[in-house]
Amino acid sequence: MAEYIESLQRLAEQFARLGGVGKKSAMRMAFSVLDMTEDGAREFAQAIIEAKEKIHLCPVCQNITDKELCPICEDSARDKSTICVVSDAKAVISMEKVREYRGVYHVLGGVISPLNGITPDKLKIKELLERVSDGSVKEVIVATNPNVEGEATAMYIAKILKPLGIKVTRLAYGVPMGADLEYADEVTLYRAIEGRRDY
Ligand SMILES: [Zn+2]
Repeated sequence: MAEYIESLQRLAEQFARLGGVGKKSAMRMAFSVLDMTEDGAREFAQAIIEAKEKIHLCPVCQNITDKELCPICEDSARDKSTICVVSDAKAVISMEKVREYRGVYHVLGGVISPLNGITPDKLKIKELLERVSDGSVKEVIVATNPNVEGEATAMYIAKILKPLGIKVTRLAYGVPMGADLEYADEVTLYRAIEGRRDY
């Protein structure tokens, strides 16, 4: 029984820590590692350590990057006067599927959720305020997910940015309430941006 082999068990427990991985899949993954060559296993472990060491937050938009600035902030062709505010780095990848979007991003690092102890000060809202403080930003598009927490976050951001004279808009989702940005397809997202409404 696999349960009796301590190091295999320990490896499976590590895989089980990954999001969406159940106990059975974790054990399958652990067995796959056994099938690797020693070099292959070392490369696998090294990739985990390297990703953790090299990846940090872009000082401008708070998205993950392994360079000084992320490629989007670095790109001079991107329109810096339009900021799309998203909850996490995965949402940036989703939004980037829409090639028509030429603005930049701001990654909050979560959404406001008092029940889970996530208050506005735990998010990168202060950084957003600093970013817009020089007056060069014309529009902030809030693209948090269309669920209760995403809406509360969008409302909070609108409340603090509007008095500064910044146009704040919200994506017009063609997707049902509660659906995730991550799973929306390119056409849906394009329509959501095109149909965005003022706060
Ligand atoms: Zn950036």
